[in-house]
Amino acid sequence: MITKRSISSALDALKRREPVVFANPQKMDLSGRGGPFTLEDVEDAERRLRRFAPVLAILFPSLAEVAGIIESPLLPGEALGAQFGNRLADSPLWIKADSALPVAGSVKARGGIYEVLCFVETIARKHGLLDSGDYLALASPRAREMLARYTVVVGSTGNLGFSIGLSARAFGLGAEIHMSSDAKAWKKKRLREVGAAVVEHAGDYQSAVAEARRTCMQNPERYFIDDEDSETLFLGYATAAIRLKQQFDVAGIAPSADAPLVVFLPCGVGGAPGGISFGLNLIFGNAVRTVFVQPVDAPCFVLRALRPSEPSVSVYDIGLTNRTIADGMAVPCASDLVYRLAGGIIEGYATVTDRALARWVVGVWKATGLRLEPSGAAGFAALEALLANGAEKAAGFLIWTTGGSLLPDDEFQAVLDFQEGDSETRPYAQSGEQETQ
Ligand SMILES: *Cc1c(COP(=O)(O)O)cnc(C)c1O
Repeated sequence: MITKRSISSALDALKRREPVVFANPQKMDLSGRGGPFTLEDVEDAERRLRRFAPVLAILFPSLAEVAGIIESPLLPGEALGAQFGNRLADSPLWIKADSALPVAGSVKARGGIYEVLCFVETIARKHGLLDSGDYLALASPRAREMLARYTVVVGSTGNLGFSIGLSARAFGLGAEIHMSSDAKAWKKKRLREVGAAVVEHAGDYQSAVAEARRTCMQNPERYFIDDEDSETLFLGYATAAIRLKQQFDVAGIAPSADAPLVVFLPCGVGGAPGGISFGLNLIFGNAVRTVFVQPVDAPCFVLRALRPSEPSVSVYDIGLTNRTIADGMAVPCASDLVYRLAGGIIEGYATVTDRALARWVVGVWKATGLRLEPSGAAGFAALEALLANGAEKAAGFLIWTTGGSLLPDDEFQAVLDFQEGDSETRPYAQSGEQETQ
């Protein structure tokens, strides 16, 4: 259903920073099969989230009204039809608005907060804090005192650190967040306000993660959340599929293998889109297909699919910069764990320009009032390109918006201004950037 491309021509397009959409050359027929994890593992993660819901409702005011369940709305996307040049025809469009997830304002609320909860549960059990079975005990002074002995450590481009720092501190855990140079100042400031230690790195995401990992070696009181290599994060993201199924049932959406729903997922290291795809595949099989979307300057997962036998291949190896306004996706090398778990179930890949991302941030804002960061808008640019290729026979499309609702006004304004093309006021301007679409 998505145009095929030879590996060599796709690689050439990647090197030329030319936006592309093409079928995953490594796709396997794995419908409904989960590899090492089963639906039971994902349901187990979902049950853990439910056990924690009452205490989360106490710790986070924004969760009081939703009984501690961190979830995002499924929104109709008709208002955007005109912006796709009416090429959608009769295909329905849906938006899964993780950009509006409470607490973290991004998809990282699924994986990052979930792994913090796993750690809290492990420590609490070890110290007998959960002997009564009452999770509200985790908000007690005694529990906080116990948890304060431990520190959660993570390396991030911004949003993962943000979600982990805020949730760890809410339980009284220490939090040490190693931020790559891409991370935005407001996220660091907000983290410091809640008492997290923010370590700033001059280097990229991969070096921030490596440094964070190193500081945790042989120290049982420091717990490293490894964005490049965590099955726990992966399962946290996968629970999204269970929630989406419930929302589909309510909305009467019933995709089938003959008329599948195509889902667009912004991708950095691969954890969030990989976990979500994995869950969707377990629940919907071939009825739901996923397309991973990356910036033309940081297409690490796409590159990995084109060079599947090179686990450490990086975007620098093909002459790219890893510099993009999509800071949540500025990652040079894909997660090998995620590639192995999900690389065979992805339907297709797309790359998009910074220009297109900024244009869609504006377009979505004007048409729907949804506030997106550039990463969070990637699915729109990819669907636009897919429709322009004219190939589609799908029952509908779903665009996962992965972040942005918490962007401060001035940050959001800077993204809106990017569109206006005044290089003096474009904080993200890069020399030599061209609109190639
Ligand atoms: C992290 C992030 C992604 C991609 O998730 P990965 O797990 O890095 O692939 C996409 N969009 C936003 C807004 C993010 O913060």
